[in-house]
Amino acid sequence: MKKARVILEKAFKEGRNFLLEPEAKRLCEIYNIPVTRFNVASNLEEAKKIAKEIGYPVVLKIVSPDILHKTDAGGVIINIKSENELEEAYNKIMNNVKKYKPDARIVGVLVQEFAPPATEIIIGVAKDPQFGHAIMFGLGGIFVEVLKDVTFRILPIEEKDAREMIREIKSYPVLKGYRGSEPADEESIVSMLINVSKMIEDNPEIEQLDLNPVLVYNKGAKVVDARVIFRI
Ligand code: ADP
Ligand code: MG
Repeated sequence: MKKARVILEKAFKEGRNFLLEPEAKRLCEIYNIPVTRFNVASNLEEAKKIAKEIGYPVVLKIVSPDILHKTDAGGVIINIKSENELEEAYNKIMNNVKKYKPDARIVGVLVQEFAPPATEIIIGVAKDPQFGHAIMFGLGGIFVEVLKDVTFRILPIEEKDAREMIREIKSYPVLKGYRGSEPADEESIVSMLINVSKMIEDNPEIEQLDLNPVLVYNKGAKVVDARVIFRI
């Protein structure tokens, strides 16, 4: 798709082989992958305006090509409930980042919708020199980090493959809901997996994609952080 190509070309022209979070989320939107509502502010006043449009609570994140792991830089503050808290958070992020990497180029501050806690999943894509692109799916947190409970397929995949992937992880019962917790919206995961497959089919220059975490609700889902590495 042309719109996706424009995003990758722009980053490439700026000498990057990766997308910033707002760019990666825009790419997701093009492929109907649901993300937290967002906009980039270049100053505090703009941040206030965007937060009002989105509605509190919001999250602020640093946007910089020199900062890949935003949390490490003190560049993420979540659950900001008012304009006063927003101002405090904005200044704090700027100070943190200045201390962490004084020469970091700052594009702006990402203001986004705060996604309330829910079942966390991760969707990843990596390119293997022999097999090409593979897609990974699993539950987030300890399920992936400790238990390595994930499943893989070579891309492209179809709906049938997406359904199989979801059902074959050991932690599938967690998605189904347990001890009274609500079941996660399996259909929203199916469509995200298929849409990621389409994205990679259209844009094979993407070498790595990380949607981590994605929060899955009883109805719908939201990508909270997105990372893309490509080679044009
Ligand atoms: P990093 O670059 O450090 O990976 P993230 O964007 O993943 O930064 O933010 C760090 C963590 O903050 C996320 O893993 C998630 O737990 C939480 N978080 C980030 N954005 C949101 C959001 N919009 N709503 C709720 N929680 C969020
Ligand atoms: Mg992250």
